[in-house]
Amino acid sequence: MAEALGELVRSLYCGELREAQVGSCVTVMGWAATRRDLGGVVFIDLRDREGICQIVARPEVSPAAHAAADRVRSEYVLAVTGEVAARSPETVNPELATGGVEVLAREIRILSEARTPVFPVDDELDAHEELRLKHRYLDLRRPRLQRNLRLRHQVALEIRRYLDEQGFYEIETPILGKSTPEGARDYLVPSRVHHGNFYALPQSPQQFKQLLMVSGFDKYFQIVRCFRDEDLRADRQPEFTQVDLELSFARVSTLVELIEPLFQRVLRLVGVEVARPFPRLTYDEALLRYGSDKPDLRFELPITDVSDELTLLGLENYPALLESGARARALVLPATGGVSGERLRKLNQELWLGRIVKDARAEPRRLLTLKASDDAVAKLVEKGASAEVARRMFEKAGAGRNDTLLVAVDQPGPVAMAMGILRLELGRELRLIDEQAFRFLWVTDFPLFEWDRDQKRFVSLHHPFTAPRDEDVALLDSDPGRVRAKAYDIVLNGYEAGGGSIRIHDSAMQAKVFKLLSLSEEETRDRFGYFLEALQYGTPPHGGIALGLDRIVMILAGESSLRQVIAFPKTASATDLLTGSPSSVRDEQLRDLGLLVIRR
Ligand code: ASP
Repeated sequence: MAEALGELVRSLYCGELREAQVGSCVTVMGWAATRRDLGGVVFIDLRDREGICQIVARPEVSPAAHAAADRVRSEYVLAVTGEVAARSPETVNPELATGGVEVLAREIRILSEARTPVFPVDDELDAHEELRLKHRYLDLRRPRLQRNLRLRHQVALEIRRYLDEQGFYEIETPILGKSTPEGARDYLVPSRVHHGNFYALPQSPQQFKQLLMVSGFDKYFQIVRCFRDEDLRADRQPEFTQVDLELSFARVSTLVELIEPLFQRVLRLVGVEVARPFPRLTYDEALLRYGSDKPDLRFELPITDVSDELTLLGLENYPALLESGARARALVLPATGGVSGERLRKLNQELWLGRIVKDARAEPRRLLTLKASDDAVAKLVEKGASAEVARRMFEKAGAGRNDTLLVAVDQPGPVAMAMGILRLELGRELRLIDEQAFRFLWVTDFPLFEWDRDQKRFVSLHHPFTAPRDEDVALLDSDPGRVRAKAYDIVLNGYEAGGGSIRIHDSAMQAKVFKLLSLSEEETRDRFGYFLEALQYGTPPHGGIALGLDRIVMILAGESSLRQVIAFPKTASATDLLTGSPSSVRDEQLRDLGLLVIRR
């Protein structure tokens, strides 16, 4: 039977007990993490969100407390009153912040009994994730998740403080909204009042935040839930949290100067000092050098274009391929790196290439491996190549004596992506990644449009509200594919930590971009008519960014899954195992909404 809390008041958290309290009487409350009976003396580790402290129940101190301690089982909730005592030197636990002291129990109240937990509430013993999610309330008791969610709170709070200091207002925008073109599928909510009509849950507050600029609020932010119905990966959730912001009269540099100090402050929360300015690469440079628009800069291993050299070498059919627009990109495998000849042969195997090809949707004709040694160069010369060109190629790619060049040849897009994947694989395999490092980078000058081969039309790389660079505006008519955008992503350790742009603030230009995206006039009117109209009532130039809060906390916490930093996350198939959602609804609810369900 549970006992009442009564008049008891907690004096401090279990995790806060220190030597300074020795001799005083305290009341602590928490969960029994462990209980050990050592020949008549019962030891209980009592846990709360701040940590663990040791309770000692001796019959000679209090027979009642000792009897209560005897009944305690795992995860019982207790209130313990007693004197804080220093532990004898041989029983001090240096692993625990409270390890120098213990509480000699005078009274133990069992406030709540507990069923035997379905898995141990312990960081070490990891139960299957499905079971953990089903009993998330138990899982969340584990110190690691307590720490992660505390960090999340601190990060959000620090961001709010910083943006407030910078003059931003936090303004809420609707959750029941209209479809926004962020590129993913919408979650839809049927309207009961207007049968056949649907709200869309926001993929982002994009248009609303721009309207707030039209309304003169100047600086807006919101820590906001967004929804995208996509196939999920470890770093995606169907509902996720963005730090969304927008400001008027902004240029790209305004955003950069606002966001870099924000990240400096956030990283200080985990004791890391990052230097400003953050490096910057254009989209083209990032793809060329790292084969990715979100390169992981915790290691170098750069990619080099060696197309000219390979053409001059004249090997096999490569000159013809390169002539037809393919590019040759090289990576250096250090001689000292510990990649064996066997592994190299494997790397070169069709199967392995097949996997890269599948990931990158590329079709490298072959991965050439060229060793930077005199013997290997002599062999190339036998095949008719020039030793001087071979040496120039090794030098350009930065290959030293006995290093190996890995060269892939394909069309520019696919070969960049394939090399990017290869670079990451090798970085991991050669243990080049500094796991302690936090490396930021801005990627700028993205193309405004991408050609969608399936739909045979241009699509926005970011979203259709992104402004073209001033010097590229003329290309909108002549060569839209070459227009670059005033868009920027901020990348942290190979993850996109945020992205944004300077916006189109001219209604005619916005209409033109919709047209280039092959939206009919009717479609434009239906979906964005209100927005185009709003832009006509005096719109300040403006721009903004959205940062992925879940992802940032995940990286800071050193976790590799978003589920480790979200209190109640969804599984990879977008279900909530705890509450059992999504679930079916009653027929009358469907009738109210005017819906008929076709069951699969
Ligand atoms: N709305 C954009 C996004 O969610 C971010 C932005 O452009 O501010 O990706």
